Amino acid sequence: MNERTHPLFGQVAIVTGASRGIGRAIAIELARLGASVAINYKYSRESAEEAANECKAQGVTALPVQADVTRQEDIDRLLETTVMYLGQPDILVNNAGIASHSLLIDTTETEWDHLMDANLKAPFLCSKAVLQYMIHKRYGRIINISSIWGIAGGSGETAYSASKGGLIALTKALAKEMGPAGITVNAIAPGVIDTDMLSQLDTRDLAMLSQETPVGRLGTPQDIASVAGFLALPSSGFITGQIISPNGGILT
Ligand code: NAP
Repeated sequence: MNERTHPLFGQVAIVTGASRGIGRAIAIELARLGASVAINYKYSRESAEEAANECKAQGVTALPVQADVTRQEDIDRLLETTVMYLGQPDILVNNAGIASHSLLIDTTETEWDHLMDANLKAPFLCSKAVLQYMIHKRYGRIINISSIWGIAGGSGETAYSASKGGLIALTKALAKEMGPAGITVNAIAPGVIDTDMLSQLDTRDLAMLSQETPVGRLGTPQDIASVAGFLALPSSGFITGQIISPNGGILT
């Protein structure tokens, strides 16, 4: 393995919420490109270990690290463990997130705070934690996983849409702050992707969403992972502050 065959060779990536779904596919994609990967999870230890084994099968080092990324002390531990076992981070993917479906008038303050903590505060805290290393190296790639609802707004998902819209604004502002330091900051705003996050929807809803999507299907985690892999490349250094939306044409 070398930089020619594996463009992320020698680099270290942290992927939050990488035990399942989109985060897991991104971790495996970054490993395929040659990066060592910290596989963060909150509860799903077994799945995180499986994800780490899939990464290791690509010939890289991978480490499952439990941390609730809404808590500063957990993030400190995530960073300490990553630096100690893999090295200083070059790539951060802020993927961990939660969804909730309720009208604004039915949303409690606790639910609102919970969503904002997971979807917006966690990327703020994790970005701050990795930036101390990236600024020193004058190199870094931060990739935030937003949503089409952060662009368009989704009825019945006001709090979720607000958290993901906030993440888009954070991406654009941080890209301007960090451009001079050689660090790019971009967001991916996926359409409807077939993961556990859709478990609240029944098969009729899912069929309807497929039909409404011009390409005629739901997205897969790999549809998002390919974009994340591209943004993570050293050769993607002129792309920053951008919101890329792999969504099958449902939002244009
Ligand atoms: P998922 O299958 O529900 O997986 C969520 C992941 O986040 C899990 O690994 C979970 O860990 C982790 N997580 C949640 N809260 C955490 C916390 N506080 N600390 C650490 N890890 C935490 O979700 P997904 O569909 O892959 O979604 C991934 C991201 O894509 C989310 O930000 C989501 O908003 C966004 N997105 C999803 C879709 C979609 O249609 N699926 C569309 C647009 C955007 P455990 O397994 O340990 O619980």
